[in-house]
Amino acid sequence: MTKYLSSVHTLDGATVYMANAGDRDVLVCEGKAYFGGQDGTNQYELTHEVANTLRKLFPFTAPKPVLGYDRSIGLGDRLGIASYGHIRLMKQYDIMPVFAQQSIRELDLTGRTYEDVLDAASFAVFREDFTRGFGADGDHLKKPEDIEYALSLGFSMLTLDLSEHIHADASGVYSQDVDALYANKVFLVEDNEITFTPNELKRIKGIYGEALDFAVEMYERFLKDGKYTCDLEISIDETDTPTKPSEHYFVASELQRRGVNVATIAPRFIGEFQKGIDYIGDPRQFDAEMKVHAAIARKFGHKVSVHSGSDKLSVFPSVGAQTKQRYHVKTAGTNWLEAMRIVAMRAPGMYREIHAFALSVFDEARKYYHVTTNIHAIPDIAKLTDAQLPELFNDNNSRQLIHITYGLILQAKDANGQSRFKTRLYSFWREHSEEYAQALEKHIGRHLEKLGCPKA
Ligand code: ZN
Repeated sequence: MTKYLSSVHTLDGATVYMANAGDRDVLVCEGKAYFGGQDGTNQYELTHEVANTLRKLFPFTAPKPVLGYDRSIGLGDRLGIASYGHIRLMKQYDIMPVFAQQSIRELDLTGRTYEDVLDAASFAVFREDFTRGFGADGDHLKKPEDIEYALSLGFSMLTLDLSEHIHADASGVYSQDVDALYANKVFLVEDNEITFTPNELKRIKGIYGEALDFAVEMYERFLKDGKYTCDLEISIDETDTPTKPSEHYFVASELQRRGVNVATIAPRFIGEFQKGIDYIGDPRQFDAEMKVHAAIARKFGHKVSVHSGSDKLSVFPSVGAQTKQRYHVKTAGTNWLEAMRIVAMRAPGMYREIHAFALSVFDEARKYYHVTTNIHAIPDIAKLTDAQLPELFNDNNSRQLIHITYGLILQAKDANGQSRFKTRLYSFWREHSEEYAQALEKHIGRHLEKLGCPKA
């Protein structure tokens, strides 16, 4: 058993650290039995109970609100193994990380729970002695019971997804009479003019009114009394059309007027933010829109949140500059792709099997994600040499194929009902953990460089 030197921490009468026990990590407590049992040297599996105790004993291992910092980044770790690489990178930059970030959809697709997601982050920061703090985001939550679940575990950020209450056809009803506040008025936001003609106001109320009422209701029910120390993000990005500046203004203004304390708002930006590939659209047009969105955010005091930020390198300079280095960016799936790139490099036989499986389930996976993947354009891997396999990860269609099928790959069973790939993958990643950490450091590092994030 090898002790992780960075994980050695002392308490009154005890030394606590993590160790590599071969196929898994364990926690060791020498001295006073803080984690249960008799005094002496005790070894513990990394259970939720042990994680709960760890968070009490070492508060830096518990999530905290981070959106109040100028720069923050969501680094969701779908596999529970990426935080080690993320932490190395975070130590180099002046930015606050959100290490735990999953939507209910991602939990369902990976067969994980919020307990697992949070515990993986806590053990990672403890092992690597990352004491700056980190956030935990209940991402894209839509239901009160899911919000309650995340809050009860100590999640420090809620991303409230309003999409089920947004009516693109403007058919919704708003509880508030706001015509006198907006109709025929011109609002100056830095050097941008936002206007609301009566027709435009009617349209915006019809689209967002019900969503605003829902946001106010959830805020008042869960956050207003301050029982939970938790940041609120409002997500209006899961729509078919880009959020107009007047819409962002109206949503932010109404939330403020109704007393909702919002840390971040995620608009749907112009162009396409598809999973795992660079921005599709005109970066100059994006820049022009980002300028107005960032100005609106400054006026109301929230930050702009950019979702599906993985690999959107061509627009990150604009995000960094227009927000004047005050942003929240979410990336998630890209750490899965980096993990699979290493499989393609080091275990070509297993990669070929998974690739074939992914092709066979692509249509099913497509139900969950909006992508424009052309699977016919993916090279026939039977014609590729092993050495050529990693190049698939430089091809947008192949990236999206692997990106969106992750849940089906991880949950796949063989004829005996045993995990078809998951067990093999995790033991492979454990063997190649150093290489994986380096790959993530480099890959996410490029994101931070493009954002213009300063060094720590
Ligand atoms: Zn989103």
